[in-house]
Amino acid sequence: MKYRAFVFDLDDTLAESKQPVTERMAGALALLLSRAPVAVISGGKFSILLANVATRLPENTGVDNLYILPTCGAALYEHKNDAWKSVYEELLSEIDIEIIERGILRAIEKTGVIDLQTSSYGERIERRGSQITLSALGQEAPLSEKILWDPERTKRNVLQQALIQELPQFSIKTGGTTSFDITKPGIDKAYGVRRLSEHLSIPISEMLYVGDALFPGGNDAVVIETGIKTHAVSNPSDTLALIAEVLRT
Ligand SMILES: [Mg+2]
Repeated sequence: MKYRAFVFDLDDTLAESKQPVTERMAGALALLLSRAPVAVISGGKFSILLANVATRLPENTGVDNLYILPTCGAALYEHKNDAWKSVYEELLSEIDIEIIERGILRAIEKTGVIDLQTSSYGERIERRGSQITLSALGQEAPLSEKILWDPERTKRNVLQQALIQELPQFSIKTGGTTSFDITKPGIDKAYGVRRLSEHLSIPISEMLYVGDALFPGGNDAVVIETGIKTHAVSNPSDTLALIAEVLRT
């Protein structure tokens, strides 16, 4: 194989947004895991990545080769001796959490992009340990509504500028179609890739990153600065084709 390790984005790369991987994808990942370390990186929290990827893998998958980087790389988990354990976790302090939540409310008020008076699908502001996530329509909003919320990215751009102004000391990233992920500064998918490379003792230049948002401004683009080879996909079908191709070599 040309690469010694693989890193996959989750939403719209391995699975449809916020959905579990399909049985076909789980099978393809299992085959890849039998050959090389595979990491999954996402803005989602650890329990979601477990539920949508790890627990979907066929029985007898070499899950010790699977690495999970939730919350944009703010943490890394590995599976050893039949258990998941954290390799590192950049937790936000109570004070950071308070500052961030207040900053979010000020940014919303300033821009008027989100109407807090209307009801949401689950929480709009969610604490994820190492990250706080703002979802315009709520955590559990249906995909069909999320797609309609900001098709031109105009609302997200306005809100992102306001968040950067209110919270200059933190790192602010657009998540999916309606969300923002806020972490300690310097924490992003590039940080996750670097930490993973160190942990695996595999040079970044020998790893492949696969994501659907590698375009400028996309939430995978930041990994390019690490020097990792990248492969852009548009959807999970593209990813299945890539894995098949990799397995042939
Ligand atoms: Mg994605």
